[in-house]
Amino acid sequence: MGEKISSTQVDFAIIGAGMAGCKIAYHLSQFASCVLIEQSSPIKPYLNAKVMCKHSWNWYSELDIGNSSNCQISTLSHWKTIYASREHEAIIDGHEFQEQLGVVFNEYELRDWYLSHADRNNFEIFWNQKCIEAKRISSTQVGDQKWKIISQSTLRPKDKTDESKTIVFLAKCVILATGSTELEVPNNIQSVFGFEPLKQLHSISYSFSASPEILDQNLPVQYIYRLHPQVSLKGMLFLNRTVEFFTIGFVDDASYPEMSTKFHRILRNYKPIQRYFKDVTPNPNTLTDKDFHYGTTCVGQISSIVKDGVIAIGDAAGLLYSMYFEGTLGIGASTNILAEELQSILQNGENFSSFNLKSYEDRVNREISERYLLAGRMAKELFYQFGESPPFSIWDVYLQNINDLSQVRKNIHDAYVNPNLKEYPLDNDFWVGEQLFHRLPSMKKVVLLPKFLQFKLKYSS
Ligand SMILES: Cc1cc2nc3c(=O)[nH]c(=O)nc-3n(C[C@H](O)[C@H](O)[C@H](O)COP(=O)(O)OP(=O)(O)OC[C@H]3O[C@@H](n4cnc5c(N)ncnc54)[C@H](O)[C@@H]3O)c2cc1C
Repeated sequence: MGEKISSTQVDFAIIGAGMAGCKIAYHLSQFASCVLIEQSSPIKPYLNAKVMCKHSWNWYSELDIGNSSNCQISTLSHWKTIYASREHEAIIDGHEFQEQLGVVFNEYELRDWYLSHADRNNFEIFWNQKCIEAKRISSTQVGDQKWKIISQSTLRPKDKTDESKTIVFLAKCVILATGSTELEVPNNIQSVFGFEPLKQLHSISYSFSASPEILDQNLPVQYIYRLHPQVSLKGMLFLNRTVEFFTIGFVDDASYPEMSTKFHRILRNYKPIQRYFKDVTPNPNTLTDKDFHYGTTCVGQISSIVKDGVIAIGDAAGLLYSMYFEGTLGIGASTNILAEELQSILQNGENFSSFNLKSYEDRVNREISERYLLAGRMAKELFYQFGESPPFSIWDVYLQNINDLSQVRKNIHDAYVNPNLKEYPLDNDFWVGEQLFHRLPSMKKVVLLPKFLQFKLKYSS
């Protein structure tokens, strides 16, 4: 009683229906049988604005982002970013270089589009099922191993039917799209498959709505990234604005109760952001802890993203530009590359050994990790961990350089729009770092010179 063997054995079992899981399900269902297993309830419409830089658009060609008459989801053109600190604000405006920086979209719409366009003849979704165990089982044929995955219902006992309590799936290959959720729990699904744990941070956010006209008046930029030591020493206060709403929140390593207390204070009292709330709904003063959206994010790629018969994508692989917590690039690149590789393995009648899957990992590393994601780690180290006192003074100097030097603005603009991240010019970042160093007060230069030299040596080799 209580155990149901899924009737179909599938080529691929995808665990997790975040943006990565939904997108890979769409691609794989075009040529193979797959199941998507998600611990939460079916996605209900919700608001969560995400920035997608122009350099990622090619990885989402099925959505035709950037083509306003045919784009498959609603987007707001992203022209302006404000980078800010306690003291300074600096703007990157795409108009200066005649090219928009990207778009801002609603995460819900993107996930929903992929699920509703996946080929339902090949694909089934199991909601409210949490994968808890997995075993590799051999068959008589050499190289023909399968995964047996066991999932349990996450519904409350009174909502469960007997047969939905536990499900066993048999799949040739597993795709781990589990993001960075629940990593603190021992035996989380990431470690069940033998992957190293991700380093995790907490996030808290809320989305406010208003007409586009009101938002245009209150908020003529689409993305704000603010570093402030009293908000967090580990992450930023961010604001992503799309057509009829904006999402505001911050990232930190504090507990959720501590973060929600702080978030109330920020929303009610933090002066630089009060102008954004004029005539929006709901009124920030009416919110309670329960209204906030609590999440997690990760900080950096795990050392290996494939094992025999199992592959990690998106946040589960740690494919994030860690300075800005930009995940849509890693999701786009990893899902597209993986779909191509898996199709070729199936067509050639090969198995899903780590040897055959290695080209997925190599391509992801070449396309985004070796240069662009490395630049993200460099920036994170420079601005968050340089041991400066008071914290973030390096960030302040950076903001002044953005305002004063058009070449710094141009380099940042290029990083947003250049789709060829395989050849991302790290020298541009080193040059920006040198300009930053030149502008430091003399005493700081003396103290920080050895660190800057060490830093350059570490990352340029
Ligand atoms: C506050 C914040 C703001 C951000 N803003 C941006 C932005 O503007 N632009 C950008 O590019 N990136 C942004 N990011 C990063 C981006 O949101 C993530 O990279 C992205 O959401 C990760 O998607 P994913 O599908 O890999 O993982 P997730 O969205 O975390 O999805 C994982 C799914 O797996 C499910 N799951 C986990 N374990 C199991 C299990 N055992 N069984 C079944 N299901 C399971 C979870 O329930 C979840 O639905 C932001 C991140 C944060 C935290």
